[in-house]
Amino acid sequence: MSRILYNMIKDQPQSLTKKGFIHIVKKGDLFSRLSILSMSARYDNSCSSSGGRREIHPYGIGNNHLSGICHTWSSDGRCVSLLKILMTNICSNDCKYCVNRVKNDVPRAVLTPEEIAYLTVEFYRRNYIEGLFLSSGIIKDPDYTMELMLKAVRTLRSKYYFNGYIHLKLIPGASKELVTEAFLLADRVSSNLELVKEENLKRLAPQKSFSLLYTPLKIVRELYEERNLKAPASTQIIVGVTSETDKDILSLAKKFYQEKMVRRVYYSAYIPVNEDGDLPTIEDPPFLREHRLYQADWLLRFYGFDLDELFGGDEYLPLQMDPKSAWALRNLHFFPVELTKADYWELIRVPGIGPISAKKIIKARKESFLTEETLKKLGIPLKRAKYFVTIKGRPLFKTLKFSERLIKNQLKDTQLDLFRGMTPY
Ligand code: SF4
Repeated sequence: MSRILYNMIKDQPQSLTKKGFIHIVKKGDLFSRLSILSMSARYDNSCSSSGGRREIHPYGIGNNHLSGICHTWSSDGRCVSLLKILMTNICSNDCKYCVNRVKNDVPRAVLTPEEIAYLTVEFYRRNYIEGLFLSSGIIKDPDYTMELMLKAVRTLRSKYYFNGYIHLKLIPGASKELVTEAFLLADRVSSNLELVKEENLKRLAPQKSFSLLYTPLKIVRELYEERNLKAPASTQIIVGVTSETDKDILSLAKKFYQEKMVRRVYYSAYIPVNEDGDLPTIEDPPFLREHRLYQADWLLRFYGFDLDELFGGDEYLPLQMDPKSAWALRNLHFFPVELTKADYWELIRVPGIGPISAKKIIKARKESFLTEETLKKLGIPLKRAKYFVTIKGRPLFKTLKFSERLIKNQLKDTQLDLFRGMTPY
């Protein structure tokens, strides 16, 4: 084991150095450690997507690996591919839902700051990635861990002059100075809340508390307001690991958006990786529920919907239908919307019509008469919208029996194709 690696982990609890960990650090080369640390990072959704499940074919080209590269979007809308890794999957915390919890007997590995910088630059030069997503388990204490992560970023920025995108995970409990430096060096920072209620956090992540997790986000918000330099942070909430409802989750997200605490909340379907009496037994991860939360989040942020409008008295979003269609069916008195007259905010309430389509409609009707043909030429999807709109008083969906049940059945058929074969949770 190299001296640098040894120094990084020498004070860890004995349990971490008993089994897989020593083995992999002694015998593993850089790439076996990289493999462990990219696999360990795959449950973090807060940099968007990663990996698929296709097996590697010996005669094929391409590698759809489970982990390693993920994608995000830069401020100008470009899709950026990132090397997504942990600095180490050694962690002194015992979060019950996490594969890296201290009690798990899994192969452990660590990369030095120099190795992280080297790998990022080499992958960048080979055109595999355009940036880095770096997180870590907690070794020794939060400041020590954050300092090592920052060392990797400092090396990248000042030794290699790396000007690419860096997303850095803030370590809860790290000092204000280190969080400030992370904010200044990285393009995006994040701190995961994971759960919505303090009592659940205490039960499932005993070393964490809300004040610990909120603090880095608050520091970043202050810095953002003071300097108006960059966008604030993002966070992630796990869906389905406790009894927290969709409304609980979105209430917190809404509060965070209103307080400008985060720019983006990510929702992550709970994937069981550990056995523990405090964890639920589920057959399939609640991906459909996660998807509905993203849709509702979007409606809250960009469509002017209020939380209560999305739930209509329930605690959960409907799974069979997107939240905007479900709202439309509960509020048929709002429809039909007359496309030649409706304003922007009325148009975007129509299922199937988003901000881009609404702007196209408003522009088109200023220039000429609006017809169904015009809408098709503009590329406006009418699959769902046709049940809710009229043009010059004429409905686009022609039927003798126009009823809530009929629309509901039609919409259900158009919506679940993506999720066929997936068990709604
Ligand atoms: S702090 Fe908790 S969630 Fe983060 S790596 Fe450690 S055990 Fe996992």
